[in-house]
Amino acid sequence: MKRTESFNHIGLEGEKRRQTFLGQRLNHFGLTLIVMGVCFPLYYLGLFGSVDGPLNPAHLGVLLAGKGIMKMHILAVFTSLLIVALIWNWVYNWVSLLTGSRLTCTKKTDNKGSVCGASVSRRKVVHKKTNRTIPQYVCEYGHKQSEAHFHPVRKGTVSYSLMGLSFAFCVVILLS
Ligand SMILES: [Zn+2]
Repeated sequence: MKRTESFNHIGLEGEKRRQTFLGQRLNHFGLTLIVMGVCFPLYYLGLFGSVDGPLNPAHLGVLLAGKGIMKMHILAVFTSLLIVALIWNWVYNWVSLLTGSRLTCTKKTDNKGSVCGASVSRRKVVHKKTNRTIPQYVCEYGHKQSEAHFHPVRKGTVSYSLMGLSFAFCVVILLS
């Protein structure tokens, strides 16, 4: 019996490490997505002056005034930026939910409504009565719950600024 328990323990530790690793990768992925989404198009459009693109300050006015096709390209870039700024956290939250990260223990610790709050790892167990496979969430204190609290990533200042900026650019381009 003791043997089984210690094996379970090792399994849980491994699972927890894997979850942490995935969580870090996801965080990194989210940040990379934002930074790339903002910088690459602007860089290649020459906004920083180092590339001879349509957003290069020296060309911007001339090109915008000149060609409708160029206008459509820039519009497409800013529309893409707008979409990335809008949906990145939904995608991130969806992947987090699928991989079982960003979940915490909901076990009540007292009568005042306080909960344990430790991060949990998800595993599948077979329900004894119905014989169905259901998820089970186990925290570091050994609480086993059938559900856990999910902490979604919300948009921050960067996302809202990027959305506002992209939207403004789209409007300006459409009206110009
Ligand atoms: Zn707990």
